[in-house]
Amino acid sequence: MTIPTVGADVLIVGAGPTGLYGAYYAGFRGLSTVVVDALAQPGGQVMALYPEKEIRDVAALPAIRGRDFVANLVEQAAAYSPTYLLGRRAVTLRREGGGHAVELDDGTTVRARAVVLTAGIGTPTPRPPAAGEEWLGTGLSYFVVDPRVHAGQDVVIVGGGDSALDWADALGSIARSITLVHRRAVFRGHAATLERVRAGGTRILTDTEVTSLIGDLQAGRLEKVALRNRAGEEIVQAADHVIAALGFISDLGPLRTWGLELIGRSVAVDRAGRTNLPGVYAAGDLTGHDGKVKLMSVGFGEVATAMNHVAVDLDPGLTLFPGHSTDGA
Ligand SMILES: Cc1cc2nc3c(=O)[nH]c(=O)nc-3n(C[C@H](O)[C@H](O)[C@H](O)COP(=O)(O)OP(=O)(O)OC[C@H]3O[C@@H](n4cnc5c(N)ncnc54)[C@H](O)[C@@H]3O)c2cc1C
Repeated sequence: MTIPTVGADVLIVGAGPTGLYGAYYAGFRGLSTVVVDALAQPGGQVMALYPEKEIRDVAALPAIRGRDFVANLVEQAAAYSPTYLLGRRAVTLRREGGGHAVELDDGTTVRARAVVLTAGIGTPTPRPPAAGEEWLGTGLSYFVVDPRVHAGQDVVIVGGGDSALDWADALGSIARSITLVHRRAVFRGHAATLERVRAGGTRILTDTEVTSLIGDLQAGRLEKVALRNRAGEEIVQAADHVIAALGFISDLGPLRTWGLELIGRSVAVDRAGRTNLPGVYAAGDLTGHDGKVKLMSVGFGEVATAMNHVAVDLDPGLTLFPGHSTDGA
């Protein structure tokens, strides 16, 4: 069996906002990139946790929906045609010649002259529901990639935090019916969103848990959800789809074994974004230093700084200052 190999000047690990902007910036510096992410879609935390929320604190964007923000980042990077390897986790890193070889969990090896880690808080792994996990990919999902998929459906949303309330709010005008199921009496999410959801006609069941998903699993056709409340009553709710919005567990995972200097759960970097490993840089939520603020605008500045240093470290004949983007076509 041949092991697939992909090569580029720079491997970016993490296609969140920082990695996507890094892909643009590497291209701007004349460097080719491969961008790897364990999630099936680019956008990191934004797409996994709050694609429908409005982001209001990124310069020159007074208010923009998360998914549109990510689409803009992807479009900006597309000017330099990065190669995306999505749905694959970077598991090992080894020095090879003057560069690095990084192995992914599907067996692909990516060879690159430099590695830029933009792995954020790690790969968000969804918390599974109490029952019905076997329906994942058909009648069950952990987040909504495209709200239009739920047009005309009876949707059951499970969870009590912001994500559950946001999905109930966003799908209210799209789905035929929404039932919001929370195992506790009180929601953790934003009170104003809960009020909107209530006013929109969502059926809200508190102190209630899912006990099973019922339908034709082979055909991928969910029909109903069995629920039980704290009083022990059994409730059956018609459902075409269940969204288990129970939050995510994030962990740096394999990166912990790469020999990176860590500060708690963050990777230590110098002012140029260099880690303690030669040719390995880091930016965005992944990094930690005294005074660090974990926001996207900070990550964008960090990855631009790191990419300029990557360019010069790979080719000392270049200047650190890249010139102005307004100068080029
Ligand atoms: C509800 C919520 C609202 C927020 N609102 C705002 C806001 O208004 N303004 C703001 O500035 N910030 C906000 N943030 C924070 C913002 O989302 C983060 O600062 C930002 O996502 C960090 O981007 P990043 O690219 O550094 O990391 P992430 O977005 O965490 O992306 C990292 C990516 O790396 C991938 N990855 C990790 N390890 C591996 C591996 N080994 N192999 C392959 N892929 C890997 C992950 O799957 C992930 O996709 C909010 C966060 C939350 C949760």
